Amino acid sequence: MSLVTFAKIAWAVGVAAWYVLRIPFERKAKRQGVADARHRTAREIILLSISTLGLGVVPAVYAATSFPRFASYPPSLAQVAAGVLVFAAALWLFWRTHRQLGRYWSVTLEIKDKHQLITTGVYEKVRHPMYSAFFLWALAQVLLLPNLIAGPAGLIGFGTLFFFRVGREEQMMREAFGAQYEAYEKRTKRIIPGIY
Ligand code: SAH
Repeated sequence: MSLVTFAKIAWAVGVAAWYVLRIPFERKAKRQGVADARHRTAREIILLSISTLGLGVVPAVYAATSFPRFASYPPSLAQVAAGVLVFAAALWLFWRTHRQLGRYWSVTLEIKDKHQLITTGVYEKVRHPMYSAFFLWALAQVLLLPNLIAGPAGLIGFGTLFFFRVGREEQMMREAFGAQYEAYEKRTKRIIPGIY
């Protein structure tokens, strides 16, 4: 098996693992009633589609067909090994955040019935550890897919969702939790501990 094929398979296994990992949490979150869905807008659907395109569709087409071929380059072994490690770290963090958010998790922005603010565990380090996990996944995609379009597509796709969403999510949390969220914002960064 060539290194490129191995790397493509590692990427696909990572995405499949993410999907499977999420199934039980999706069930749990669905059972929880929604108190405020005002933020579940058409704009959110568009952002989610852009993210899915970059993290899913574009890299899947490349992995299956090597399209667009002109943008491909030969990867190094170190790059692929780093990609596997970064994807593993992303999955671990993803699992932690789901375990902690539990029934308060949602694909789009919403406040659930009896919603509680989580500020411990990985949520003590940053305010958006699940988004940190998605950025790690996007970074793993850059490392695992040796193609100048399919590789960075995830960073662009998820980055678009993140930057257009995060301010609104924090605004929604401030409205729901008031001073408690403001204090939480003062002592934490968004996605990288101590930096951003
Ligand atoms: N931005 C968070 C959560 C993503 S899931 C992260 O990256 O980890 C999105 C939902 O999580 C939002 O609709 C919001 O209701 C909920 N949420 C976000 N931060 C939360 C927190 N600290 N405690 C409880 N729920 C939170």
